[in-house]
Amino acid sequence: MVKLTFYGGVREIGGNKILLEDGERKLFLDFGYPYSKYRIYYEEYLKPRAGAGLLDLLAMGLLPHLEGIYRTDLETGNLWQQFRRAEHYRRLEDIGGVLLTHAHLDHSGHISFLREDIPVYSTATTAFIAKAIQDSGKADFDQQVCYFTPRVEECLKGWKQGAYFASGGCDQQRRLRVADRLKLSEEAEQFWAEVVRHKKLDSRPLDDIGECSFNLRCFPVDHSIPGACAWGIETSSGWVVYSGDLRLHGRRGRLTEAFMHEAANLHPRALILEGTNVSKATNIAEQEVYENAFKAIDSARDLVIADFPARDVDRLLTFLRVARETRRKLAILPKDAYLLKTMRLLEPEIPDVGQEDAIVIYQETTASKNPAQWLKKTYEEYAGKVVLAKDVASNQDDFILCFSFWDLNELPSIRPQVGSLYVFSSSEPHNEEQEMDFRRLHKWLRRFGLRGLGLPVETNGDWEIPEEEKGLHASGHARGPDLLRLAREIRPGTLIPVHSEKPEFYLDNLGDAGINIVLPSEGGTVEM
Ligand SMILES: [Zn+2]
Repeated sequence: MVKLTFYGGVREIGGNKILLEDGERKLFLDFGYPYSKYRIYYEEYLKPRAGAGLLDLLAMGLLPHLEGIYRTDLETGNLWQQFRRAEHYRRLEDIGGVLLTHAHLDHSGHISFLREDIPVYSTATTAFIAKAIQDSGKADFDQQVCYFTPRVEECLKGWKQGAYFASGGCDQQRRLRVADRLKLSEEAEQFWAEVVRHKKLDSRPLDDIGECSFNLRCFPVDHSIPGACAWGIETSSGWVVYSGDLRLHGRRGRLTEAFMHEAANLHPRALILEGTNVSKATNIAEQEVYENAFKAIDSARDLVIADFPARDVDRLLTFLRVARETRRKLAILPKDAYLLKTMRLLEPEIPDVGQEDAIVIYQETTASKNPAQWLKKTYEEYAGKVVLAKDVASNQDDFILCFSFWDLNELPSIRPQVGSLYVFSSSEPHNEEQEMDFRRLHKWLRRFGLRGLGLPVETNGDWEIPEEEKGLHASGHARGPDLLRLAREIRPGTLIPVHSEKPEFYLDNLGDAGINIVLPSEGGTVEM
């Protein structure tokens, strides 16, 4: 019998952790960071204690109570004794792997806690972006997806046994298995191997993945981060298809179309489908974002700030095009430059930051004298392209500055001219904390006399972008009618909605489709 158990992504957007079992064979579909569950108990200054290992996460219900799947260096004392009576406790061994759909942390983040011998299957782009995010981010102990530093005692033990001499350190690299490429350039191999020298990226055809013993299909799809895919798993009860996050209206929407047709041809027994935007009836396409942004920026005087989601490379390229056509320079942050450089290792059509005249790199005013290795290398490599606050301040109409809310503290050094433009090209707030941030953002704009465009405003407790300013953000997720089309065309025996706050949408709208719809429960199992 095939069983699907849902440990995350149930009535929440993100945090997907789905266990697929077919007799003895087991796989996880994503193993994401559950932002909304964290927010119930934690905030910026109240966090799970890194030194407590798995304890806080298990005690607070942020990780499923599955003994045997986690890194042993994070176990303290008799950790499991206190959880063996917990509701969904299980001992679980021999996981064949994690099928990762994309590098957004709400799908990948908690891979950090899994045993390092559990392989992670993904596209090459997802593996590389995950590493770039970790290299250039804060990489807290709960977000070390690609590599991690084991806790001290484990490290010393390994040191004594000589296991770490070859790599010169304790860092452990996870076993990522690339599903869509057989050959990587030497440069790409090097990028991957720079953490733990003796570990190369493992890439081989999917039908040669002996160890997870399932027949797998990896379907590239379009989402707001490059490299996203959906998965097909052939089980003894038929194919199970898992969508990950996707959209039909983006630049690579034809990939999602192709997935839809190929998945339909498998006549799947089950389809696990996302439902982030079930209540949205319409979509903005990336082309409209370009047109609207161009119109606004072409007529702008003084400084332009563009605020868009990190790692949305499509959006970055949209603003690059606008910058070229309005004869401005796109001032990106070092982490954006690092991401573009990483992507170029796999996709030569991505612009070369060093050669692209319309790109410069903004250096934070109070940058550390002793920057991290990746940052130092980035500044060195693009030395001629670095601009400082004073360069932007003295030639404001030369730039589109790629800042988000978190970079606003640079503004006192830049002092934008009154009437400068702040283009908001991202989504509305989804929770109270984000609403607070938006209130702050509005205050910052007022303080510096910036003109906001596309910014959500609060009316009677609801946050909405004014009608005439819509069209500056294309969502990463398919709208309701597109999701229904996906479900109807793929026509699975059973549809299981995840990654949605309103999964009933499918019950309400697919009653006539002859599809059995099952709403999963947290920790609950759907049997096939
Ligand atoms: Zn996503």
